Amino acid sequence: MADAGGCIVSAYVGLGSNLADPLGQLARAITALAQLPATTLLAQSPFYGSRPVGPQDQPDFVNGAVRIDTGLTPLQLLDRLQAIEQAHGRERLRHWGPRTLDLDLLLFGDREIHHPRLTVPHPELPNRDFVLQPLLDLDPDLALPDGRTLAQLRKSCPDNRLRPLRPA
Ligand code: AMP
Repeated sequence: MADAGGCIVSAYVGLGSNLADPLGQLARAITALAQLPATTLLAQSPFYGSRPVGPQDQPDFVNGAVRIDTGLTPLQLLDRLQAIEQAHGRERLRHWGPRTLDLDLLLFGDREIHHPRLTVPHPELPNRDFVLQPLLDLDPDLALPDGRTLAQLRKSCPDNRLRPLRPA
């Protein structure tokens, strides 16, 4: 097992895509996540369509989230997420522009992480209904390490015209 002090942690990964068959991108990414070392895929959320954040002259996104148990460290997991993004031909031409696959480490147990490469909980989590809703589907009682519940955050976050696509 990868070095993480023998500790298995529940983590949540957010998935997003708005290019090149987004539903297929997310399905293939989930398959890749299930194959990560020292990691078990526990559950996947339904998928949602959402309006893009930032430039509006791009396709709607498809979003979802998964819950995993992992023995990887947070940075090892980030490396693996970025490798999956690259393997899916991720291209990003501009900030907040279209992308084939975006994987975000949203929550890592109850850890708060401030590292040059990694901030957890993901800093945009409270502002994104397309992140909060899939997480709430996975666990309606989820809360941030600071105690704020996701259900409460969901009530006050901006509306990205979220719509359920199909059962995952
Ligand atoms: P983006 O793909 O635009 O979401 O941003 C990718 C960059 O964000 C990478 O350089 C990561 O190192 C950094 N990053 C910081 N925190 C996170 C996180 N929680 N999940 C994924 N990437 C993160």
